Amino acid sequence: MSRGKRKQPAGDALERAAAYGQRFRGASRPLHPSADASALRRLFDVGLPEAGREPAAVLEDLIAAAEPGLVGNTDPRFFAWVMGSSHPAGVAADWLTSIWGQNAALYQTSPAAAIAEEVTATWLLELLDLPRASSIGFTTGATMAAFICLAAARGEVLRRAGHDFDADGLQGAPGVAVLVSEDAHASNFAALRFLGFGARNITRLPADSEGMLDVAALAAALAASRGPVIVVCQAGQINTGAFDRFDAIADLAAARGAWLHVDGAFGLWARAVPELKALASGAERADSWAVDGHKWLQMPYDSGFAIVRDADAHRRAMDISASYLSESPRDGRNPTHYNPELSRRARGFAAWMMIQVLGRQGVAAIVRRHCECAALIAARCRSVEGIEVLNRVRLNQVVLSFRGREDDDRSADALTERMAEALNATGRYFLRTAEWKGRRVLRVSLIADGTDRAIAEDLADAIETAWRTIRSTKLETTPTRR
Ligand SMILES: *Cc1c(COP(=O)(O)O)cnc(C)c1O
Repeated sequence: MSRGKRKQPAGDALERAAAYGQRFRGASRPLHPSADASALRRLFDVGLPEAGREPAAVLEDLIAAAEPGLVGNTDPRFFAWVMGSSHPAGVAADWLTSIWGQNAALYQTSPAAAIAEEVTATWLLELLDLPRASSIGFTTGATMAAFICLAAARGEVLRRAGHDFDADGLQGAPGVAVLVSEDAHASNFAALRFLGFGARNITRLPADSEGMLDVAALAAALAASRGPVIVVCQAGQINTGAFDRFDAIADLAAARGAWLHVDGAFGLWARAVPELKALASGAERADSWAVDGHKWLQMPYDSGFAIVRDADAHRRAMDISASYLSESPRDGRNPTHYNPELSRRARGFAAWMMIQVLGRQGVAAIVRRHCECAALIAARCRSVEGIEVLNRVRLNQVVLSFRGREDDDRSADALTERMAEALNATGRYFLRTAEWKGRRVLRVSLIADGTDRAIAEDLADAIETAWRTIRSTKLETTPTRR
């Protein structure tokens, strides 16, 4: 029986959204929002309607309310954070994901969603060259990926210590030594806190000037530890892009029977580039890995991967089962066994799409290009007096500081802030400062698909020009001795 044509009450809104979307991505858009929080509140707070309204008209209102508060997150001149550009091809798959309206809870709620994830998982393991029997949970991002990986770690190290976490929880569990680099991404500390470890029970190990975990300190902490152990290290430090020494760390973790987790939100993608792979060599020896889809893979948001070597430990940690959630032995993988959600977006479609659109070579080309851009910017900056490049630029991150005549860190910090303000004030770049090793620094993160050599050259020019101006005004305002 044919289903025939159904009435589409929101058809106009869909068409309008598609047409608007195409124009939006095609036009050059402001990088910085033009409205502040109170203006946006006024725009959005149009009142709670008693009667519903026409979808196409509401869509117009939504566009009008949102536009002044949009940020050029996808723009090739957005350097503030490691985010990615939400590639239009991934967006197209994301549209279909919503159009199809699949619930990716179970194989039976959507066989297509389940198998898309199953197949994409094998491609991801190949691209990242991680153990092929690992299981993958499709997550919102790397924070949730860390949460899942560390939940698996928690259950498994306690199980090995004779404690049944699923039955008894943390009550009466032996203490777990959690060893984390002090320069690990904040999301790891958050995930550990969400998991019940508590901020005070996490041992923060020292890291060097690049943010690389001090291996000797790890060895000492492991030797002093009692009971189950979880170690967190990273591929791609959020400021410097540095990689931990995975082989040495994996040796230590293995000797102690510790669970080793790698935060590789963006850095693990170096493993997809033949000439960069050595940076993350040894990372494959870990027990779990958190990786983002929305960064170097350029997927739209709601995309990260929790990869766990021990698929049983992964499943024990995340399993949701109930008699009404039908399962049959003939089913494919049930997505809900690998994430904390039951109902959720079918995240596999956009991942499948982006991997097909880019291919192995396309992924490698993007990562390679951004690393070359970072090297170019660093080289240009190093050639200018007063600009310091504080990190060893081997990936896509450049950490800058600006130093005038007064050779102290306080005035360098102030100049660095002024440089960020000056560059942002041009409206052509979106940059942010951060604190790194006690210094105020300008972070340059290159990760949007469109960021290329010309844009890197342009940013280097702009940094140089802004620095010459700020430096000379600074000198003028310095009181001269009479
Ligand atoms: C971006 C990032 C995270 C957090 O990822 P989300 O996708 O924002 O949750 C964690 N660790 C590192 C190293 C990152 O770069």
